[in-house]
Amino acid sequence: MSAPPPVMLPAAVNAHSHAFHRVLRGRTHTGRGSFWSWREQMYRHAAALTPELYEKLATAVYAEMVTAGFSAVGEFHYVHHRPDGTPYPDHDMEHALARAARNAGIRLTLLDTCYLKGGIGQLLSEEQARFADDDAADWLARLDSLRAAFERTYDPAYVSVGAAIHSVRAVDPESLGTIAGQLDPQLPLHVHLSEQPGENRACSEAYGLTPTELLAEQGLLSHRLSAVHATHLTQRDIELLGAAGANIVMCPTTEADLADGIGPALELAGAGAVIALGTDQHAVVDPLLEMRALEHGERLRSGARGRFTPSELVAASSTGGARSLAGGAGLIAGDAPQPHEDQIHVRSDSVRTIGAEGEQVVLAATASDVETVVIGGEVVGRNGIHESLGDPAALLSDALKELE
Ligand SMILES: [Zn+2]
Repeated sequence: MSAPPPVMLPAAVNAHSHAFHRVLRGRTHTGRGSFWSWREQMYRHAAALTPELYEKLATAVYAEMVTAGFSAVGEFHYVHHRPDGTPYPDHDMEHALARAARNAGIRLTLLDTCYLKGGIGQLLSEEQARFADDDAADWLARLDSLRAAFERTYDPAYVSVGAAIHSVRAVDPESLGTIAGQLDPQLPLHVHLSEQPGENRACSEAYGLTPTELLAEQGLLSHRLSAVHATHLTQRDIELLGAAGANIVMCPTTEADLADGIGPALELAGAGAVIALGTDQHAVVDPLLEMRALEHGERLRSGARGRFTPSELVAASSTGGARSLAGGAGLIAGDAPQPHEDQIHVRSDSVRTIGAEGEQVVLAATASDVETVVIGGEVVGRNGIHESLGDPAALLSDALKELE
């Protein structure tokens, strides 16, 4: 008897990535580890990055993503200055990431990030100096220059620029207002939102508002906004994000790893928000596990099965992510933009997937079952091996050695 044919699915969109966090995988659990001890370790690795090292590391990370079934990535990028806080002469770190994406064949939306403060009412720490511009106007000017540089250099179907606000911790209300008034509405805009209860407490103490209410007050809620995590929300927050038709980028494996909590994904979708998925810190790079963790989180917090259907999980992973990275296109259409026709073929004859029916395979398969990855009509990955770069594990091994 012949083997059952693979299940064809749209390729996954990774709507939230910090490529360099891949260095931390399997290294942050000593002595148990907290969110804040994880952040200390992450800062140390950020300090060591140079454009050359970052291109090498990100090439490996993006190769891993491609072979796992992702055809596009939104890179939430804040390591944009030198360690002492001075700018590079020619967007060197951003070109490093763009070249890495071109090496790996993944579509990149580089979400250049505004990061101005060390916390609410706090100055930047020494490690944070390289994440920061002088003020919102300075960041907006650098973003314009970056867009022009990328438009001159890369095919826009593969490399484009978007924007991000690190969080309400790192950007003050006045600067949020400047960004709302001056940022090109065509650009996608991402923000980390209410990942930890500590952020909500600090925001409420300083401004008497939740982070979502603060974004609303400053005019930032819209279809082009993507709220990343959205874990600890009030009913009012859910209504505001839903009414705005915002995108919500859930990162379920990261949120589990960092003990963030489980966000109200189904309530947000019911209120009108659009769910997307991201692998964030890359403790796991596997779109199938991300889809499953979204649904499993829902089941665990509600005590009910079937919160999202398999089709809805596939949509979160593909069209939801595409809308999140599209910005103004989503804003004008008010709906999902036409996604790229990138595809993955998932084996239905492996020990994990044999017997699974159609799209239900997403609740059984892992990235190990991704047989073929097609981006822009070309096969880029096959059975875990990148067509031009080879085994991503070897690339990662080389890159990690240089970062020791
Ligand atoms: Zn993040």
